Amino acid sequence: MNSLVLHLGSNLENPLKQILLAHWLIEEEIGKIQDYSLYYKTKAWGNEDQNDFINSAVRINTKLDPQEVLKKIQKIELEMGRMRLTKWGPRIIDLDIIFFNSLILNSSNLNIPHKLIQDRKFVLIPLMDIVPEFVHPILNKTTKELLASCKDTLEVIKL
Ligand code: ADP
Ligand code: MG
Repeated sequence: MNSLVLHLGSNLENPLKQILLAHWLIEEEIGKIQDYSLYYKTKAWGNEDQNDFINSAVRINTKLDPQEVLKKIQKIELEMGRMRLTKWGPRIIDLDIIFFNSLILNSSNLNIPHKLIQDRKFVLIPLMDIVPEFVHPILNKTTKELLASCKDTLEVIKL
């Protein structure tokens, strides 16, 4: 069984409801959710003229391989009606692969660990709820250590 960490974000059409729906689809398509973070509200990152985001993270046990997981999260995003309008623009759901065991993978369509974990408090803070001591396999630092040195200034507020 593989241990997979996904990050979830939404800022359209009742974001918390979208995240809960995504949990349900993740269990249908990918595997049983073992740990859930709390839910956090964050101002939009990158492109600030849009609604606040709700973010969370989950840890899942899955038999799928990383490319199969990517296909499944893209299927869930499409099913949930995500449209790709602008980079870092509003989205009904964004699912990102954060960690997959301690695998390091850099292919044309998939980077694991996700490249921006260390730059984003809205990712690190949910990760603190589920994998605080996990060691990032490239940076060789725990989630706790990454958060302590993260320079992101966007506020992340517990719901
Ligand atoms: P973003 O998440 O950066 O806001 P998208 O969700 O549209 O934007 O993802 C853009 C592309 O990122 C996807 O087509 C996917 O192939 C690629 N990608 C690379 N690494 C990952 C990852 N770890 N998790 C999810 N997508 C990834
Ligand atoms: Mg994404």
